[in-house]
Amino acid sequence: MSIEYGEYRNNCKEKMEKIKTPCYLKIKHKLSLLFSDFEDISYNDFWLMVDNPNKKLPQKKFVITDKFDYRLPIYEINHNPFTPELNKIISEKYHLIEKYVKTQRDIKDYIVDYVNTKTPKTVILYLIDGLSYWDYINASIKYNVEPIFVNGKTTTENGLKNIVYGKNGIPIAKELYKFGYKGYGQTYWNRKNKLTDILFRYISEKNIFYYDENIHDIIVKNKQSKKYIQIYKIGLDDDAHKLREVSKKSIINKIKEIFENINILRDILNQTNQPYLIVITADHGIKWDFTKKYRKGSHGNISFEECFVPLIIIEG
Ligand SMILES: [Zn+2]
Repeated sequence: MSIEYGEYRNNCKEKMEKIKTPCYLKIKHKLSLLFSDFEDISYNDFWLMVDNPNKKLPQKKFVITDKFDYRLPIYEINHNPFTPELNKIISEKYHLIEKYVKTQRDIKDYIVDYVNTKTPKTVILYLIDGLSYWDYINASIKYNVEPIFVNGKTTTENGLKNIVYGKNGIPIAKELYKFGYKGYGQTYWNRKNKLTDILFRYISEKNIFYYDENIHDIIVKNKQSKKYIQIYKIGLDDDAHKLREVSKKSIINKIKEIFENINILRDILNQTNQPYLIVITADHGIKWDFTKKYRKGSHGNISFEECFVPLIIIEG
């Protein structure tokens, strides 16, 4: 790659501790900034501050990540913040994370915006209990994924509420009803369960089913009409609390099995020749401790594994 004279004064792959500030910083994801004591500032704000003769420059390690020119050195770091390395800083910097990543409460807005612009015939929200971003990555599933932060407690109730009710407290089923979408649900939980009630509010009880086949039928029989289907699957949360024989391998196999079922669902949707959207995510992740005899998985606390869930979008 040729670099034009004056364009870059310094462009090299650096370790964070070698970087001299102020500078421009090329970075894969801004969350990496939490591993440093750098102060993130926009190009415009930085130069406004520098050009103002009445203002003394604060003693901070400024880095600019949004725009580059010849005025400062440019560094590039190759760092992925979405690994268990995040556990080193997650408690201390917890309050800053929402600034840099998408959260569960943003998912509903994404769905509503998508429906508003593309009006797919079928919208599916597929909730997998206890699937962490990290376990998803380790299972090597072919779908692209984005890490999503759990707002607040990493419990089933809080995570599901974040996703289904979003920022304004209105359930997705109600939001989509305004666009003419009829609501359906699938859960293995008893309808009388308190959480089922919260999760499936605004979906008629007669439209809530237990089996995959019921949902497949609805898709095929109503292929011309607009529908919203909310699916809740036990995923890995059950294993975390009960099974003795849970292992890394059994977790990966379970995730593969879940996605084989999702592939079947996708194939059925493809056969309808109608546009659709499938949004897959989880209430919280699980932190596994395989040295334990029982209850090898836990959640409810703050860790990278518990606080980051996957977001997978399948369009057709
Ligand atoms: Zn859960």
